[in-house]
Amino acid sequence: MATCFWLRSCGARRLGSTFPGCRLHPRAGGLVPAPGPAPGPAQLRGYAGGLAGLSAALLRTDSFVGGRWLPAAATFPVQDPASGAALGMVADCGVSEARAAVRAAYEAFCSWREVSAKERSSLLRKWYNLMIQNKDDLARIITAESGKPLKEAHGEIFYSAFFLEWFSEEARRVYGDIIYTPAKDKRALVLKQPVGVAAVITPWNFPSAMITRKVGAAVAAGCTVVVKPAEDTPFSALALAELASQAGIPPGVYNVIPCSRKNAKEVGEAICTDPLVSKISFTGSTTTGKILLHHAANSVKRVSMELGGLAPFIVFDSANVDQAVAGALASKFRNTGQTCVCSNRFLVQRGIHDAFVKAFAEAMKKNLHVGNGFEEGTTQGPLINEKAVEKVEKHVNDAVSKGATIVTGGKRHHLGKNFFEPTLLSNVTQDMLCTHEETFGPLAPVIKFDTEEEAIAIANATDVGLAGYFYSQDPAQIWRVAEQLEVGMVGVNEGLISSVECPFGGVKQSGLGREGSKYGIDEYLELKK
Ligand code: NAP
Repeated sequence: MATCFWLRSCGARRLGSTFPGCRLHPRAGGLVPAPGPAPGPAQLRGYAGGLAGLSAALLRTDSFVGGRWLPAAATFPVQDPASGAALGMVADCGVSEARAAVRAAYEAFCSWREVSAKERSSLLRKWYNLMIQNKDDLARIITAESGKPLKEAHGEIFYSAFFLEWFSEEARRVYGDIIYTPAKDKRALVLKQPVGVAAVITPWNFPSAMITRKVGAAVAAGCTVVVKPAEDTPFSALALAELASQAGIPPGVYNVIPCSRKNAKEVGEAICTDPLVSKISFTGSTTTGKILLHHAANSVKRVSMELGGLAPFIVFDSANVDQAVAGALASKFRNTGQTCVCSNRFLVQRGIHDAFVKAFAEAMKKNLHVGNGFEEGTTQGPLINEKAVEKVEKHVNDAVSKGATIVTGGKRHHLGKNFFEPTLLSNVTQDMLCTHEETFGPLAPVIKFDTEEEAIAIANATDVGLAGYFYSQDPAQIWRVAEQLEVGMVGVNEGLISSVECPFGGVKQSGLGREGSKYGIDEYLELKK
């Protein structure tokens, strides 16, 4: 099992450092974008305040195929999850648009694979520079369409851009091998070549970074891509297309076909079964991942699957409570609990249990502020939609009906239908839904345990394994537990584990393959002897 360890050995993180108050402007008024090249025919209708004043060039509503902005026969609405305000109508691509995008990507592949690694590197670097130049606008797009607090949206833009920067560097470091064969006078050469066109399907919770983590690697390797972003968050994917074009990435290398949830199944099937597509790269739920694996099986395509998790967060008796609480806040409440690596289950040893629960509750009350992502000081935005709120509510009600205690929070937030109070539950047991289903919301359930063996058994008693965290000051225990956790990534005295330099991915039903790091580009390369 390949596991990436993150170690933080000492020193408590300052409480609150994860969610410092936003210093950016509160929501601006006005509904008109700044002058600039006009968006496509399907005009944006009434921006939420946070999009006011953005460059119109970045606010695209058409699909981007073969370097051209193309409308579709239908459009679908995109809403601000905080206010419900309409952000705009976006091209609702169907099967024919999907096939056209694959053709454009395939034609572009035939020349892109011949472009030198140095030139690919330089174009990716230009794309990265443009992301950084436009970081404020790109962050506002993320907050508007996903509800993520603006401070976190800025963080995502850097994280996202860094994948382009990283893979611009990796593009020039793809090496082959010379192998000494059993025959004295023969040597074998191994080349690495791009796999071809990649179908890229991404979720709404990181509308920008989940795209560049795949596309940066693919484009660096010499592949071309067709991206289907999530229905809720197409604007970030389309803004990236505008910047790719400005950077000089050739037409057809990066294509985007937004579509409504109604069309997702057919569009997904069209791009994932097309014979011109060689690779499927998906981030999203395990359920959808399995559907796409079926598509891949029928036409024997390469796959990368970044799927759901159920991260355990273990606090051993030897842990530093302040450090564990800071890590718990960071790993649980980033993006209002809507990340695949968010802690889903807190396992706390009996000796430290009461102190941890008390300090965690106090820290939550002090540091977590629910509000519109554009408002200064907000650390907890809305959930993506009401269905997500219903799931959190269901998990809380189920746990309480089976004996859990609400320490803080526990109900919908008065701000609106997509908001839920940050919630801490104690006396949680393993028969409760929240301990074996991904909540994907601001709920921290605490299970008390006695021994290390018991904690590991609970942590591993699931068919997924993406991230895991634990807090301990005992070096022998640190190695033991890190090696025994059945996950792809471990945070040791650390609650934030994502970085472009490190491999990201899971074991069991959390996925196949690794993204980012020096390994990420291999997902888009074939070996040829
Ligand atoms: P999802 O429902 O699986 O959707 C992800 C993407 O797949 C969206 O673009 C969606 O389109 C599309 N899709 C849905 N059904 C499809 C189908 N039958 N064929 C083709 N495409 C289809 O996941 P989600 O709820 O948006 O995202 C949350 C999940 O993603 C969580 O489980 C989380 O853990 C996981 N995630 C994993 C990672 C990781 O790196 N491991 C990172 C982030 C998130 P629509 O939007 O139109 O439905």
